Amino acid sequence: MKSWKTIVLCLILIFFFGGCSEPPEPLEEPEPLPPNILIILADDAGYADFGFQGETDLSTPNIDRLASRGVVFSDAHVTATVCSPSRAGLLTGRYQQRFGYESNSPPASMGLDAAERTLAALLKEQGYRTGAFGKWHLGLQDEHHPNYRGFDEFYGFLGGSRSYFPSPLQDRPGSPRAIMHNREYVSFEGYLTDVLAERAASFIAESKNRPFFAYLSFNAVHTPMEADRADMNRFAGHQRQILAAMTWAMDRAVGRVIDTLDELGIRDNTLVFFLSDNGGAAFNNSRNLPLKGWKGNKFEGGHRVPFLASWPGRIEEGATFTGLTSSLDIVPTALALALPEGSDIPAGLDGVDLLPFLLDDRQENPHELLFWRKEDASAVRMGEWKLIRLDDYDSVLYNLEDDLGETSDLSSANPDKLSEMISLLESWEEELEEPRWHEGEGWVRVTRNIHQALMDNKEPGRIAP
Ligand code: CA
Repeated sequence: MKSWKTIVLCLILIFFFGGCSEPPEPLEEPEPLPPNILIILADDAGYADFGFQGETDLSTPNIDRLASRGVVFSDAHVTATVCSPSRAGLLTGRYQQRFGYESNSPPASMGLDAAERTLAALLKEQGYRTGAFGKWHLGLQDEHHPNYRGFDEFYGFLGGSRSYFPSPLQDRPGSPRAIMHNREYVSFEGYLTDVLAERAASFIAESKNRPFFAYLSFNAVHTPMEADRADMNRFAGHQRQILAAMTWAMDRAVGRVIDTLDELGIRDNTLVFFLSDNGGAAFNNSRNLPLKGWKGNKFEGGHRVPFLASWPGRIEEGATFTGLTSSLDIVPTALALALPEGSDIPAGLDGVDLLPFLLDDRQENPHELLFWRKEDASAVRMGEWKLIRLDDYDSVLYNLEDDLGETSDLSSANPDKLSEMISLLESWEEELEEPRWHEGEGWVRVTRNIHQALMDNKEPGRIAP
């Protein structure tokens, strides 16, 4: 029989809570969420322009801290030496030439084939919340809009090369440089690099009970060279003042996003990649040393990029990975984490899941071969060997282990290696589609002249049309 105290308690419980049943069993521990994926992409940043890459006169303390809490890849490459095709390879995990996406312009023709699935679309299928922040540069038409390519949330601009400040000329409906929030044109205040980080940080905070994929695609440090006044003052007298200030702002923005992960307690469940979309450009004062070449050409300075992965507690911290790696690898690596255990990674990807290399500290090459091609210039990498072929001109062969600066053409001394690599390139080309659009004649001519000069170890004359 219940005591009067119990009866009173029951009446109170009935009044307030509608019952007096036994207290519920403690809830089972919720299933841990699959790891979040965060890709932070810099635009046209120099190989040598980050503290974690070695000596530099630029300051990147937050990105350096990210590197110290992860693995730095010393031989990592993007799939193109210009913005747009590089992003097509990065987000699909496939050589973009497979679907005719080879060149950078003209913007009206470019766009990611509807049949290609982006990492966002693939992760969305696994229940991820997906967001893109910043420069899109994968097509201006409706069907190419990030909201139709797997991203639940988009805040940024569809084209390239926009101002870092509000701009009456660019911020008008229909402009490929206007800022959009999803499908709406919006205005913003402040310095765009900071605004993009704020947007990404809010998205992450709103996603904390769901796995998320955030793609933070800065336009920094692409031209136009525009910096925040306070950042400019900080670097007064610096030889590369504007670039130093823009890089400092990008670093602050990275810090803002990483701090958000720390504050939310999800840092150890988030795999972060940081890389640049192509080599440092000729027009933004960036430096790619000790590499030869820059954005737009097939020398290492065009496609070997700063690249790091950070996942504290899971992959090694403060380590360097020397194997041949590609931006193509991000898609299969992310999928390996997101897919249910025992699932196969979709067929047709050109990337390699990097987790076995990172988790088991295997220092082998994820790739035996890597390929590049745009217009008349192509390249192949096989182990220490690198071939650059300029159609109807010449092919050069370098041994990168002895000659990272690509100055000694060994093609005459190694005819067998030369023909082996040319036939590997030709076999790969047989798998590709014809390019669906081409760069303007002026750029094709200038790029060809630059290749010719650099192949002959000469200073190129013109570097712009
Ligand atoms: Ca770029």
